Amino acid sequence: VDESVREDMSKLEDTFPGIIHRFRLVNRIGEGTFSTVYKAEDLLYDHYHNDWDVFAQAQQQESWPSPSSKKRRIDGEPGQRKQPRYVALKKIYVTSSPIRIQNELELLHDLRGCKSVCPLITAFRYQDQVVAVLPYFPHSDFRIQYRTFMVADMRHYLRSLLTALQSVHEHDILHRDIKPTNFLYNPELKEGVLVDFGLAEREGSEYTSQCLCAHQTYVRRSRILSSYYSKNPPTSGLSNGYPKNDSRSSRRANRAGTRGFRAPEVLFKCTSQTTKIDMWSVGVILLTLLGRRFPFFNSADDIDAMIEMSSIFGTRRMKTAAAMHGQIFETNIPTIGEKGYSWEKLVKWSSCVEDLTESEQQATRLLAGLMELDPSKRFSAEEALQHEFFTQPVH
Ligand code: ADP
Ligand code: MG
Repeated sequence: VDESVREDMSKLEDTFPGIIHRFRLVNRIGEGTFSTVYKAEDLLYDHYHNDWDVFAQAQQQESWPSPSSKKRRIDGEPGQRKQPRYVALKKIYVTSSPIRIQNELELLHDLRGCKSVCPLITAFRYQDQVVAVLPYFPHSDFRIQYRTFMVADMRHYLRSLLTALQSVHEHDILHRDIKPTNFLYNPELKEGVLVDFGLAEREGSEYTSQCLCAHQTYVRRSRILSSYYSKNPPTSGLSNGYPKNDSRSSRRANRAGTRGFRAPEVLFKCTSQTTKIDMWSVGVILLTLLGRRFPFFNSADDIDAMIEMSSIFGTRRMKTAAAMHGQIFETNIPTIGEKGYSWEKLVKWSSCVEDLTESEQQATRLLAGLMELDPSKRFSAEEALQHEFFTQPVH
């Protein structure tokens, strides 16, 4: 461990009087926008009773973590050498609002016992500092791993991720930030856990007016709107992709997430976002795996992201998607065609292969259901798990 990390860990120990009696900090394992995460040994772990309440609960529900019963017994026997128990200490930055911190902890608490969601052991606060305690989950680095993934590995990865999302979505919670660094995958266990509920929210918790897409009759209404806009284009003089002198009322929508993983409806500022936004992000991960490129999308901003998307889907489908949310999509970029490309073609180009194997074709069909522009037609986690890719795998 290098000196600066050591210094940083001492600082945390100094901030929390008494923390050293319970935890021995081992290393710094993550540094994000909203937190720093440390690996630590839990010194007060009750080996005799195997006492991590969440572990006991998870065990009952046959979900992770499930150390073998044999190991549990050995751990519990007095006089035996004890296995150290590691935790991840997530120090949430003081710049995060208290409401946001509470939200993350509350949602994690609601999701306790859910398969493939990393359980929250406890959390503690000292003045304005909050630390969440999670079991440490050994995982591989996606940026190194994804290149070596065979289709069978992709299947294990996705099954685990989709299982986690199925539970999260059953609780009407949107994760909002599905991406490889928030899904800790262990290739030996062929299982992963979903972490980082810092941007998660309950479905329908936005206090704005409903988006056009939420209305039953949106198909008809969007037709009326697109014909209105084609007669009255507000595109007189575009600056930075936005119309000048735009007389339409401005719109605010939750855009939280990570660039490259944002669903089209997030880009179109849909105010009725659903759990389907996570399903799009799963699609982006699958595209990365199949196309063997990471990151697959590399946009600087939302307009850039729309350009990337329209290069794939073509302008016709992008216009329909925009109209669904009461928006118009216009572009004069000559390289963007009207029709777009098939997923099969894109996967072949991206991975530089001439033909896809049968299992890759299956995965590509799943991809098409995940990266569907219309959120109401996009697969849910449950539907995705019923896909032939999982139920009738070809080898
Ligand atoms: P942030 O909000 O800063 O992105 P995360 O919860 O995503 O925080 O954690 C950041 C990183 O810390 C993760 O990408 C992962 O590498 C590591 N990490 C988080 N939780 C755990 C855990 N339970 N076990 C092992 N590593 C973890
Ligand atoms: Mg994260």
